[in-house]
Amino acid sequence: MNKDKELSKLKKKILKLSKNFPKKNLVFADGNKNSQVMIIGEAPGKTEDKLKKPFVGRAGKLLDKLLNHIHLDRTKVYITNVVNYRPDKNRKPIPEEINEFKKILFKHIEIIKPKCLLLLGVTAATVVLNHKGPLSKVRGKFKNIKIMNFYFDVFTTFHPAFLLRQPNQKKSVINDLIMFKRKLV
Ligand code: URA
Repeated sequence: MNKDKELSKLKKKILKLSKNFPKKNLVFADGNKNSQVMIIGEAPGKTEDKLKKPFVGRAGKLLDKLLNHIHLDRTKVYITNVVNYRPDKNRKPIPEEINEFKKILFKHIEIIKPKCLLLLGVTAATVVLNHKGPLSKVRGKFKNIKIMNFYFDVFTTFHPAFLLRQPNQKKSVINDLIMFKRKLV
């Protein structure tokens, strides 16, 4: 099966979960499905739900700027989230939701088959790396891990929503991204 067919099959599977997110839109992915880079956030917010695209609100605008620092943009990366619907009242996804979407995310990764995964924040690190504890333990580091049947280089940094609250951490994220970019060339 080709990538487009596999992605639309996956989308149909996620649409079946919409009953748990009444009146919310599916926010599947954005960017280049043939990219070497797959970026994974947490869950859509209000703007993402409205526009049906990941990272298009305030945090998304900041993500675009950060990617520009390393000469990347949405034509060169593929972006999705752990959870593909906006949790009610902007709460964090609960463990049951995360568990339900984990299989879907892993299938999504297998379909896109990027060279590197860029995890934004603790939810993505928990799901993909099975990381427990402070983000500082995994932030700014590459790990080579097996997901489904393939190995991926996985790098973690702070979530841009965290940077909106802690702008003094922007410099460390830019340094992280510079290190991440080196792996791509
Ligand atoms: N935060 C996320 O984790 N994902 C989005 O798509 C938007 C904000």
